[in-house]
Amino acid sequence: MNFHFVFHVDYILRRLFVPLSYAFMSTFGIILDMDDTQPNRMVDSDPKPGDHLDHALRPQFLGSMIGQDTIRENLEILISAAQHREEALDHVLFYGPPGLGKTTLAHILANEMGVNIKITSGPAVVRAGDLAAILTNLNEGDILFIDEIHRLGRAVEEVLYPAMEDYSLDIIIGKGPSARSVRLNLPRFTIVGATTRLALVTAPLRARFGAVYRLDYYTVEAVENIIKIAAERLEVPSESEGIKEIASRSRGTPRVALRLLRRVRDFAQVRGEGVITSSISRQALELLNIDEVGLDSMDRSVLQAIVVKYQGGPVGLKTIAASIREDPDTIMDVVEPYLLQLGLMQRTSQGRVATQQAYLHLGLEPPPDAAQPRLIS
Ligand code: ADP
Repeated sequence: MNFHFVFHVDYILRRLFVPLSYAFMSTFGIILDMDDTQPNRMVDSDPKPGDHLDHALRPQFLGSMIGQDTIRENLEILISAAQHREEALDHVLFYGPPGLGKTTLAHILANEMGVNIKITSGPAVVRAGDLAAILTNLNEGDILFIDEIHRLGRAVEEVLYPAMEDYSLDIIIGKGPSARSVRLNLPRFTIVGATTRLALVTAPLRARFGAVYRLDYYTVEAVENIIKIAAERLEVPSESEGIKEIASRSRGTPRVALRLLRRVRDFAQVRGEGVITSSISRQALELLNIDEVGLDSMDRSVLQAIVVKYQGGPVGLKTIAASIREDPDTIMDVVEPYLLQLGLMQRTSQGRVATQQAYLHLGLEPPPDAAQPRLIS
């Protein structure tokens, strides 16, 4: 009796009071950000609260998608071939930094094929039974989108292999010596996987995808177009120079571009006449501490750590992360790919090295032996 009472009180406290008080505190700004080192990082390409507003801006079909030309062309062929054969689409894996359109492409595939899409993610599918429940609820041709697919557990992956290959599911019924395996047939479905870390997708899982595509950063022109369309849809008056200014600091990432657009729009309304002009964009982005190539304070502190604390490197990722009190995964997924892309950093077998460009970008004199930038195309 006593035990039950204690249990109930504890349960009510945890289930009701804690989330409510958290919601209260975050609503009134008492909890600002759990990460005190980089509060509310604007150019982080990982999703943030508020980004869901951009979902309405997602292109719905391949024809209305801007950028990623090669992938679009390949997908057009994949879709036409599947439709011609009246089959489900082959399993597709998208990889690349966050915010470039992997989820958007999964939705586009479903729209183009005229099928339903169910969405889950690697960490959300904890047990093999969870996956079995999802798979048995799919209809013929449906798409199951698995975000962060590299985070699926081993046991779950083992259920996925035969499901992807033979559209079947082996279920164990009973326990101990009387347990027996039953094979269930599944409808022909399509898995669309997305990952920021292709290297962490196990070889057997990767082998089961018929098509694997790498998403690249967008060109400034493509980002400009994306922002222009979004500004029109949001009915924000803008000048092309103002949009250009945002595009050049969006690190080739639509998610960042749309987030910056929203912040510049706020700035234009409060400090200007509501129009996104070049001067308004510049002032707003300077206030957000984003420099002319799209680096924010976290990017610059990574560069500074390599250049100043470790004399240009080579230095290991974990050492850099510890010295600026940041999460190594965030640096690896979000900061590093963009610094590599800009030719400000190089990855060598001994560690990370700052290039001559990095010194110049920080306003420092590069030493004669500083690495030459090697631009990634
Ligand atoms: P990922 O899954 O790679 O992290 P998303 O597909 O969620 O990225 O895209 C992030 C945001 O960027 C979405 O809100 C979407 O509206 C926008 N977006 C992505 N790619 C494009 C594109 N090619 N054109 C327009 N908007 C895009």
